[in-house]
Amino acid sequence: MASLLEIRDLHMRFSLFEGLSHVLNGISLSIEKGERVAIVGESGCGKSVTVRAILGLLQQRNVAIEGSIRFHETELLGMAEREWRGIRGSRISMIFQDPMASLNPTFKVRDQLLKVIRRGGRAGSAREAYEIACAGLRRVAIVDPDRILAAYPFQLSGGLAQRVMITMALVNRPELVLADEPGSALDVTVQEQTLRLMHELTQDAGAAVLLITHNLGVVREFAQRVYVMYAGTIVEEADVETLFREPAHPYTRALLEAVPKLTGAGLPRPIEGMVPDYTAAPSGCRFHPRCAFAEDACSSAPPVVELGSGHRVACVLPAKGRVAVPT
Ligand code: SF4
Repeated sequence: MASLLEIRDLHMRFSLFEGLSHVLNGISLSIEKGERVAIVGESGCGKSVTVRAILGLLQQRNVAIEGSIRFHETELLGMAEREWRGIRGSRISMIFQDPMASLNPTFKVRDQLLKVIRRGGRAGSAREAYEIACAGLRRVAIVDPDRILAAYPFQLSGGLAQRVMITMALVNRPELVLADEPGSALDVTVQEQTLRLMHELTQDAGAAVLLITHNLGVVREFAQRVYVMYAGTIVEEADVETLFREPAHPYTRALLEAVPKLTGAGLPRPIEGMVPDYTAAPSGCRFHPRCAFAEDACSSAPPVVELGSGHRVACVLPAKGRVAVPT
């Protein structure tokens, strides 16, 4: 049976004044129905452009995309804008990082939410759409939906605006929710509430979630499976338990060592160096300029090694039976 979402060998190049920026370098991933999957990596690794490509939001003249993005059996790449109307916002929806930047400040919440509901085709009348909106807001623990619907976004706190965004994303009962660092632009408590609500509501609705984050703590709490992304490539994938127990890629290990420990068990170790400039990305393993284990073979594309139970890693070390143990 086909996956809910299947991305195969996706490449993305931006034509910039500085040259050609190869931001996605052949990524492949899949999401099954009802599954919670995370993509984790530093800022600038290509996570956000991946979700924008899934939603067809990068159809610009200076962006070239190759590969395949299939939703059920439908190829999304190259789909005409009119065909997107039955998918974007209804079958696939998105929760953005900053609700204040995503909601239109010049329209009341009611106008924006009811428009989404009408597009999803769930309401036969304006009254019905209003009732669906109120029910959706109550589900995210908003006790006075009439007041919120009559407000402009700038009259809401960050936490309330985030709940409105979650309602908009879930009100049409999508099969897949894309969540790009939800709530991370707000304080930690709001981020925690956002993730908890997303978890509960998507589980109840049987929706799958693709969560984008740089926070491994969030991955552990929220996801079932995880893809580690570095410089536009997937370097490791595994179920969450396996990834935290047996990280195999030097970059994954470096990410884990960079997390502060509340137990006081040693200071976090920042990752040396920076994500490369994509107009001059390193050949072979893109992590090799920062990797303590790099060798000559790393200047060629590393093999993808299957370690069992869906745990895959793109690195020369496991291919030789070696483990990336830090010194
Ligand atoms: Fe390091 Fe080489 Fe593995 Fe890349 S392929 S992570 S450079 S050891």
